[in-house]
Amino acid sequence: MARKPLIAGNWKMNLNHLEAIALVQKIAFALPDKYYGKVEVAVLPPFTDIRSVQTLTDGDKMLLVYGAQDLSAHESGAYTGEVSGPMLAKLGCTYVTVGHSERREYHAETDEVVNKKVRAAVKNGITPILCVGEPLEVREAGGQIEHTTAQVVAALKGLKADQVAGLVVAYEPVWAIGTGRVATPADAEEVCAAIRSTLAGKYGDEVAAGVRVLYGGSVKSGNIGELIACENVDGALVGGASLDGEEFTKLCALA
Ligand code: PEP
Repeated sequence: MARKPLIAGNWKMNLNHLEAIALVQKIAFALPDKYYGKVEVAVLPPFTDIRSVQTLTDGDKMLLVYGAQDLSAHESGAYTGEVSGPMLAKLGCTYVTVGHSERREYHAETDEVVNKKVRAAVKNGITPILCVGEPLEVREAGGQIEHTTAQVVAALKGLKADQVAGLVVAYEPVWAIGTGRVATPADAEEVCAAIRSTLAGKYGDEVAAGVRVLYGGSVKSGNIGELIACENVDGALVGGASLDGEEFTKLCALA
């Protein structure tokens, strides 16, 4: 099955809404028409920027879509400071990252919480970009496949095959995020292929073939080509390099 590559820019906690407008305009104008239909490009700004990004992309035939970096596991209620799936759906979010390693580390998000958030996204018609990946000590001990596939299984617990079909998994080794140390294509392919075969074992070949598995961790225009050439790497989740309009556009064009 041919999977359309996805390049998603995780802005993390950067850019206010005015800066967001400037960056999205830069990306939108720089992406040539010839990429329409060939690659999907998403930006994942902070919550406070989403409305501004929406007004720029609404009603246009832009190949840019947008989403959020997190959502609440709850639908509504007394959860001060949280943002719900229905709120993000109302803002037209296509994607939401769930289980990013920074959420797991700094906000103590367990596999159970990640599972609830994945379900909340699916329930509200937003495609989760499920982030998984091993820390350095696990990689050094050779446990990357076991660790990462266990995270995938736990995050998808209780979901039916038709809910898994079409979702996005991002393999992000923790030691590669924001460090400048990118996984080799062989390392990325090994884990991405293992994720796909785990999905095939649980939900069938057809469902697994439709899931896009991204690589994330210090991706730049200089290394995207060799990563995306891997059979089971269907795009990238990009942090730092997504804040530079020129670099991000170059990277998307190379996908
Ligand atoms: C990320 O935050 O998901 C990420 C991959 O960051 P960076 O590209 O900066 O390593």
